[in-house]
Amino acid sequence: MSECLFCRIARGEIPARKVFEDETVLAFHDINPARPMHILVIPKRHIESLQTATEADEPVLGHMLGIANRLAEENGSPDGFRVIINNGRVGGQEVSHLHAHVVGGPEPVGPMLKRN
Ligand code: 5GP
Ligand code: ZN
Repeated sequence: MSECLFCRIARGEIPARKVFEDETVLAFHDINPARPMHILVIPKRHIESLQTATEADEPVLGHMLGIANRLAEENGSPDGFRVIINNGRVGGQEVSHLHAHVVGGPEPVGPMLKRN
């Protein structure tokens, strides 16, 4: 069994505040929210990042994006939201199980990235 943190959350071994689940994806509140709404959407099957995803993963990748608006509407961000996927060292990925951050809230989330 994988010791990966998000695999363990997907298997229910570590608790999470779930907001959506179906056969292929799970969505839950980030433990350390950066905005009033901060949800993580993960594939239940372990995919490390978009660096290792294959063509076979495209349906679940599309599904992760496809449910984002519904998650935002149902969790306090009906007027828009931002999706962020960090990948690898350069992307600042800390948990090595692909996840989309869906962030928002009543107020705009702010500039996309700080310019260097
Ligand atoms: P990354 O930097 O890899 O894109 O984002 C990892 C995210 O996972 C962070 O926003 C962090 O707060 C969140 N996180 C880390 N550990 C846990 C956990 O055990 N439970 C939940 N719900 N979120 C976590
Ligand atoms: Zn995993």
